[in-house]
Amino acid sequence: MAILEIRKYPDPTLRMKARSVREITEGILKLAEDMVETMKANKGIGLAANQVGFLHRVIVVDGLGKEGPMVILNPEIVQFEGEETREEGCLSIPGYFELLTRFRKVKVRGLDLEGKEIDFECDGIIARAIQHEIDHLEGILFIDRLSPVKRSLFRKIYLAKKR
Ligand code: ZN
Repeated sequence: MAILEIRKYPDPTLRMKARSVREITEGILKLAEDMVETMKANKGIGLAANQVGFLHRVIVVDGLGKEGPMVILNPEIVQFEGEETREEGCLSIPGYFELLTRFRKVKVRGLDLEGKEIDFECDGIIARAIQHEIDHLEGILFIDRLSPVKRSLFRKIYLAKKR
């Protein structure tokens, strides 16, 4: 197991679309294991493969005590319900948090590491984390979902700080 380096905004990998996993190879198993380790080490509640430089549709989400961390390959949201506004952040945009509205409840489909179909409903923080991580696989960051005013403010503040 290894702790991987997390790509930080504006790294171009964060803007690329990840490819579907067609075969569960040793490489995919190792990536999933390393992603769980990296998420834990950084005290995150979710991580997408793009964030560690791999363009595969792999996400990991903390089960929040109920179960261990979940690995989902080729995750998809097939149903959603309601809305909820909460503060959100991202390990690739450290130190920046903002209120964001997302679906409150989602039905998720994908594959586990044995290639079996996963199909479950969730809400709260897990539902938010899964929506956030699936966005990553599309090259979308949570700041893209903010209003134009907040987004331009973010660019000014965050990028100025990095200089
Ligand atoms: Zn993120």
